[in-house]
Amino acid sequence: MSYDPDNIFAKILSGDFPAHKVYEDDVAIAILDIMPQAAGHTLVIPKAASRNLLDADANDLAQMMPTVQKIAHAVKTAFAADGVHLQQFNEAAAGQTVFHLHFHVIPRHDGVAVKPHSGDMEDQDVLVAHAEKIKAALAKT
Ligand code: AMP
Repeated sequence: MSYDPDNIFAKILSGDFPAHKVYEDDVAIAILDIMPQAAGHTLVIPKAASRNLLDADANDLAQMMPTVQKIAHAVKTAFAADGVHLQQFNEAAAGQTVFHLHFHVIPRHDGVAVKPHSGDMEDQDVLVAHAEKIKAALAKT
């Protein structure tokens, strides 16, 4: 399977589709998931194009992991979480629905289950408020 440059995350990266962006650096952006599995569910999306982990360049992967770590710290702080859960799906058989590599970064609280993957769409005003909390946490790092 080859990379489709018309996927929705490619359009968000190029600025052709809106997103609740909380962070950007040379290698990746971080946006809120519009169907969050928990408050603060963030996606780290590398700028380098690949379908997923399987076809990604190893150097690109190495360069983006510090960004994943940075976002994990930020969502944990922003939502006073007890832990942070990473999720990453490779191909449809494994649950992948958008075919540009991304890492799900999900704040977790003790005893609280996550909602289903690609479930209900969150209200825009809630996403705006959550994005502000994450940006505020990042501003302190
Ligand atoms: P995956 O199944 O790992 O490919 O996950 C794709 C994720 O992207 C799902 O959790 C969706 O809720 C999320 N998603 C789909 N479209 C958008 C969008 N336009 N902006 C933000 N998140 C999205």
